Amino acid sequence: MKKTFNTIFGLSALTLLLLTSCGSAPQSDSNTLTVLASTSFLADIAQNVAGGRAEVKSLLPLGADPHSYQAAPSDVAKIAESDVLILNGIEYEHFIEPLIENAGGERLIVIATNGLNPHPAEEHAEETESGEGDVHEAGDPHLWLNPNLVVTYVENIRDGLTKADPEGADVYRVNAEAYIEELKSLDAWIVEQVNAIPKERRLLVTNHEALGYFAERYGFEVVDTILPSFSSEAGASAQEIAAVVESIKSSGAPAIFLSEVENEKLANQIADETGVKVVSDLYFETLTNGAPAATYIDMMKHNVSRIVDALK
Ligand SMILES: [Zn+2]
Repeated sequence: MKKTFNTIFGLSALTLLLLTSCGSAPQSDSNTLTVLASTSFLADIAQNVAGGRAEVKSLLPLGADPHSYQAAPSDVAKIAESDVLILNGIEYEHFIEPLIENAGGERLIVIATNGLNPHPAEEHAEETESGEGDVHEAGDPHLWLNPNLVVTYVENIRDGLTKADPEGADVYRVNAEAYIEELKSLDAWIVEQVNAIPKERRLLVTNHEALGYFAERYGFEVVDTILPSFSSEAGASAQEIAAVVESIKSSGAPAIFLSEVENEKLANQIADETGVKVVSDLYFETLTNGAPAATYIDMMKHNVSRIVDALK
């Protein structure tokens, strides 16, 4: 029951945040919007919608893992300067509330996942012996790893930018349409790539629970995760690790997949015991400076190529 209460409380707090922060965007001298997104892949998605009307910056630097992010003093100033702040939501930005409070002022806050139904946290939280699963009680935040769900991100960002800058409505509408077409092409490309993997080998083992929406869309089974959590900040008990070794052996899963920002230690230990390979250069939470994940679409293509290579 405690979990249900906390989830509802989290949602109410978010609603409150929206109500107190949804004033009209402040007038800026330069006549252009200052748009800030919490993290790099969101900034890229938003930049595609904003086009030439606004430069979208990322609060977190490239290479930072939002799950483990510790706010920097300069973050408050960045938020204070923003007219629009774009967040993933579902408690992915667990660090954001005090920053917004300290920044003061008014800005439009766009929750990119608004209207989507996240996978609930309850199921796995009960299995979590360590209780670390509590980190993401609002549910699984990783909806962006299914490009079809990013269509909703784009629509929410388009509507937010239009509200903050009504004169740009046509630009945002046309840009959003074009980017949604790119997302659809990306989805078709992924389906085609995944077809190279025999059905019985479409098995994923990851460090934390990041690929749920991806697996659901593209017909993979998530055999197990090393950390029983939607956050890379969680821990795992000896029994939980033994259980992962067991599920890898019984399922025949060929590899363990990690994002580049995660600690490889446990994965390597499990790989030693099971003889599977560790693929540790995926990007789930951040873009890179140039290749291989310079944009959200590049990030997805890189991940899919690495997964297909390891499983086909
Ligand atoms: Zn994650």
